[in-house]
Amino acid sequence: MYLDLNSYRLPSYSFFHLWTTINTELLEKIITDMKHLEYMREFDHEQLVFCNEQSTGLKSLIAIHDTTLGPSCGGVRIWPYKSENDAAMDVLRLSRAMTYKSAVAGIPLGGGKAVIIADSHKDKNEALLRAFGKHVDTLGGRYITTEDVGMTPADLEFIAEETNHVVGLPQSSGGSGDTSEMTGLGVYLGMKAAAKSKWGNDNLDGKTIVFQGFGNVAYNTSLHLIKEQARLIASDINPIAVEKAKSLGIKTIEPNDIFETDMDIFSPCALGGILNDETIPRLKCSIIAGGANNQLLEERHGYDIQKKGIIYAPDYIINAGGIINASCEVGIKYNAERSKAITEKIYYSTLEVISISNKQSIPTSVAADKLAEKRIHSVRSIKNL
Ligand code: NAD
Repeated sequence: MYLDLNSYRLPSYSFFHLWTTINTELLEKIITDMKHLEYMREFDHEQLVFCNEQSTGLKSLIAIHDTTLGPSCGGVRIWPYKSENDAAMDVLRLSRAMTYKSAVAGIPLGGGKAVIIADSHKDKNEALLRAFGKHVDTLGGRYITTEDVGMTPADLEFIAEETNHVVGLPQSSGGSGDTSEMTGLGVYLGMKAAAKSKWGNDNLDGKTIVFQGFGNVAYNTSLHLIKEQARLIASDINPIAVEKAKSLGIKTIEPNDIFETDMDIFSPCALGGILNDETIPRLKCSIIAGGANNQLLEERHGYDIQKKGIIYAPDYIINAGGIINASCEVGIKYNAERSKAITEKIYYSTLEVISISNKQSIPTSVAADKLAEKRIHSVRSIKNL
């Protein structure tokens, strides 16, 4: 069953007035829902779909932000959100970031994202994933799904039982496989570009780099940095991830100690919103470059980072390796060399964004948005021909 918020309408005033006296709780919920509609209008989202399937316990939201450049594509995240409202705001923010990410990466995809409200360790199973796949299929290719937090390429195979609109399947099934390998390469190259802008050369030998979160992306980034003899430190709330870091010879610290640690580069590789009023004043680094999506809690935090003289390599520029890899599978046979060649351009797009930021005295986050919007607007004008 769907609740498509595009077609959601408030009751008329008189009915609304009567209703306030009898159902305050529901009224509050509707007002909160309106915040999503306001957010959708402000950022021009095309569609938000709520998918509900009681038999499997599926509660999921699919957000399509913009399909100017191509079908929307972005991973499905499984996360135990506290409320449906939290999940809706997250999927709206994430889908918009996907539009910008694909635009700057130069690939023919629009921005979309999905979330499943569940605990991936306890609730994930074949029925849940296939139910989600059925809902993706009803969108007829306007949204193509892939892996995100809480998902594995093997999980995508269940989704693919119900829809063809899936990328990032295991290579044994003809797909492009784990996206985090290419994401790790892009994050590493983005760090190097930021280093070149900051220190005049991109050598990371001996630089201290701290990872917040040591999951798939941080692991794949660290493999490049270890070869370059960077000094790595990692923190994670999951003891298994901490052990994985230690097995690579990486020093580990408690998650709360990150902001007391001197470092050259801070690499957020966990969840979003980590650059905020509380953390920015405490950060002791020259560069921020990590894989996590939506690292700035609010746009204004980009200005706070700029004021501190820290170079921020915008998240969606340097973590685009995964979507680039997936794009190399949409409608064509996957080619790893092509994917690597496009991912390597992240080095130059990061340099370009930092250069725009310096010339125009604007935060790198704003410079990145300008680059993305330029491409979207130019293609939108062609579509009107
Ligand atoms: P993951 O689940 O493999 O790793 C995330 C890690 O962060 C986990 O080990 C988790 O325990 C840890 N973590 C969560 N909260 C933490 C905290 N407060 N402090 C320390 N550690 C914490 O996910 P991933 O695939 O490595 O993705 C990491 C980030 O990069 C996510 O924001 C994701 O959306 C983004 N991203 C991933 C890809 C990809 O290809 N996988 C692509 C682009 C962006």
